[in-house]
Amino acid sequence: MSHIQENLTQLLSLIPQNVKLVAVSKTKPLEDIVSAYEIGHRAFGENKVQELVSKHEKLPQDIDWHMIGHLQRNKVKFIAPFVHLLHGVDSFRLLRTINNEAVKCGRIINCLLQVHIAEEDSKFGFSEDEVLSILQSAEFLEMQNINIKGLMGMATYTDDNLQVRNEFKGLKLLFDNIKSHFFANDSNFSDLSIGMSGDYKIAIEEGATIIRVGSIIFGHRKYL
Ligand SMILES: *Cc1c(COP(=O)(O)O)cnc(C)c1O
Repeated sequence: MSHIQENLTQLLSLIPQNVKLVAVSKTKPLEDIVSAYEIGHRAFGENKVQELVSKHEKLPQDIDWHMIGHLQRNKVKFIAPFVHLLHGVDSFRLLRTINNEAVKCGRIINCLLQVHIAEEDSKFGFSEDEVLSILQSAEFLEMQNINIKGLMGMATYTDDNLQVRNEFKGLKLLFDNIKSHFFANDSNFSDLSIGMSGDYKIAIEEGATIIRVGSIIFGHRKYL
């Protein structure tokens, strides 16, 4: 087994069956993804549209591609035909564009609404109030080609585990609240995407159904 295969196998043995692992392959070469693919992994995450499209073209077509980063509206069209789940939906205008592009390619695109839970203001995402108002807006209710699967969040980058835990707890509360008010009879709204290499254990304890893990599987990234 390669290191990547060992890391992945080990990680999968540590996470509960009901938690889905998105292997974050951003900046990593195709062969790293192939290595994980060879032992059966199919869910990969990228945060740049160009890289996502290029990898999608070159790798097996049964991979589920997750767009986990901030998405610019003018780039939605490049991934709309194939993307499995958009984690970083963070504006109403983006939602509108996704719906339009989904209509054009005859798809219903799965989306998570990204909620700002971190202390830093650099991270993208809606406030809780914004999420609630979107879900009630008439225009949103008419968007037929979007499937809101749940919420996504990124905790503050800190060693303070209690703070991270509290941020996840807050998002889980919002998730439960939205579920009961807007999606009580809709099993589609079921995903909470929280947790990365440094905080996935806490995220799982706080209700993650999807974790997005890169470094633990593929090693540290070198940014140029
Ligand atoms: C890079 C990235 C991850 C994975 O980060 P690791 O710390 O390498 O696990 C998860 N989520 C998002 C949104 C990312 O950009």
